[in-house]
Amino acid sequence: MLWCAFVNVGAARHWYHREAGGQLFARLRDGLIIVESATGPRWRDRRTRHTYEPHRPSEQREIDEHHRRNLHFVGDWHTHAEPVPHPSAVDLQSMSEAFRKSRHSLTAFLMVIVGTSAPPEGLVVCACDAHNAHELSRIISPART
Ligand SMILES: [Zn+2]
Repeated sequence: MLWCAFVNVGAARHWYHREAGGQLFARLRDGLIIVESATGPRWRDRRTRHTYEPHRPSEQREIDEHHRRNLHFVGDWHTHAEPVPHPSAVDLQSMSEAFRKSRHSLTAFLMVIVGTSAPPEGLVVCACDAHNAHELSRIISPART
């Protein structure tokens, strides 16, 4: 379900031509983190061709609403205007800062970046802690014979 949402965002951005983003919320169960909801983009976000600045009060409202449904904030997603996305220095800095300043029990936050290519090439997923970002493996379908 979540995968489809990101594919749709990737397709839609060709006519938006502006960066977009949102938050990821998950159910924590039996040591698993199951991402069930991705929010955004929001009409109050500030979006340009190469930058995206979320509307912080809307983000907090989303966190509160999801928490009531036992869904916890686990990270962010945003788009990049490049085929194969790479986290920028600002991306890494803001995620490590968010990890340090937030109250949570997670060992890392997720950062998903959607590029202009179709997945898996156009999708990067990183686990970010207070100091590092670890890119998770891209899922590559086996070649058809
Ligand atoms: Zn970025």
